[in-house]
Amino acid sequence: MARIVVLGAGFAGLWAAIGAARMRDEIGNAGRDIEIRLIDRNPYHNIRVRNYEVDLSELALPLSQLLDPVGVAHGIGEVEAIDPVHHEISLVTSSGEETLRYDRLVLALGSELMWPNIQGLAEHAFDVDTYTAALRLDDHLTSLGRSAPAPGRSTIVVVGAGFTGIEVAAEMPERLVRAGITGSRRIILVDSSPAVGATIGGHARPVIETALSSLDVEMRLGVRLASVEASGVCLSSGEFIRTQTVIWCAGLRASRLAENFPRARDRHGRLLVDPFMRVADLPGVFAAGDVASSVVDGLHPTVMSCQFARPMGRFAGHNVVADLVGRPMLPLRIDWYVTVLDLGGWGALYTEGWDREVRTTGAAAKATKQTINRKRIYPPLTGSRDELFAAAAPTVQAPPPTYGAKRR
Ligand SMILES: Cc1cc2nc3c(=O)[nH]c(=O)nc-3n(C[C@H](O)[C@H](O)[C@H](O)COP(=O)(O)OP(=O)(O)OC[C@H]3O[C@@H](n4cnc5c(N)ncnc54)[C@H](O)[C@@H]3O)c2cc1C
Repeated sequence: MARIVVLGAGFAGLWAAIGAARMRDEIGNAGRDIEIRLIDRNPYHNIRVRNYEVDLSELALPLSQLLDPVGVAHGIGEVEAIDPVHHEISLVTSSGEETLRYDRLVLALGSELMWPNIQGLAEHAFDVDTYTAALRLDDHLTSLGRSAPAPGRSTIVVVGAGFTGIEVAAEMPERLVRAGITGSRRIILVDSSPAVGATIGGHARPVIETALSSLDVEMRLGVRLASVEASGVCLSSGEFIRTQTVIWCAGLRASRLAENFPRARDRHGRLLVDPFMRVADLPGVFAAGDVASSVVDGLHPTVMSCQFARPMGRFAGHNVVADLVGRPMLPLRIDWYVTVLDLGGWGALYTEGWDREVRTTGAAAKATKQTINRKRIYPPLTGSRDELFAAAAPTVQAPPPTYGAKRR
């Protein structure tokens, strides 16, 4: 038996595992002795891009529903270390410490929020990086809604005005209403950069500013978070904001387990992979999603996003089996790039191209966002092996639909 281990059940890992099972099926007898095993710390696939939304009820899909029909074994465990020399993974499971051997590996452990050493931050702040964290924030808002009015109860401070922070802030008016916090409220977005959405680009900025202003989101730009305490936050400007809810959304980095591989990494800690998703000069190791960086159009490295993680996963899954049985691998090439930023009750923003030209805004862009978040990125939930295999084919989807945009 040859064993392929996929680490991570996010957008890259899930599709790598199903993609590998699809290829194993396609090659018939040659795939008979291949075991595919996926490990994640959770028994579910988190639709992570939706962790900021009002309704969190459909964001954790049981892995058994997705992997049992295609014959992928799966286990729950915390990956502690990977030894690429001896092909071994150290895990902590409910039974204790375990070692898992692999013949081929797909590393898909994603990314994680960076937590700088700011006084009180780790102790008091919330985030939406994982499903567990999103639920914790949701519980907190619900309990605030049930508590008696108190100073700072209706003030939310979101730190980091990049994609995630903007989505969190824009969704907050609706979330507060749902939590029962009505009446006067303040939502404050803080960033050390002098401009909102500095990483998103100049074309998009006026749209983001209009949307946030119409949602009454206040800005504190060009200032840093200095400290956090139970009753509020202190900014580098000296301002103290009374609040019971600080949401940290500033900065992502690749899983630290990428450091187990003695290979070049980019400034986000990502392993560099070739178009086949192979980690350079490391036979038998593939990586996909936020933990990896690949040049997909001959020019641009992938951006940490589900837009890239999903096809990277599908191709990694196909190729890891092809590599094992000596069949030709398929290179991943993607010649389009879009972003769709949720702007809450105002709508959304849809940009196209690496310069992020605005394509649609408001309700039209929101329709695209909802198509993506509620349909496009979901695996088939019917339990049908054929549908799962079809969705895992090593192909690149067309860009998401635009509504109401003028054709070019
Ligand atoms: C709030 C939010 C909104 C976003 N919005 C967008 C968007 O609009 N568009 C977009 O394209 N992208 C968006 N992203 C980014 C997107 O979610 C990521 O790029 C995507 O999830 C990457 O997929 P992945 O499979 O590489 O990693 P992940 O989805 O993070 O999956 C990694 C998996 O590895 C598991 N894992 C990690 N470490 C360990 C360990 N040590 N042991 C065991 N298991 C482990 C995790 O449990 C997880 O299941 C958003 C992210 C957030 C947080």
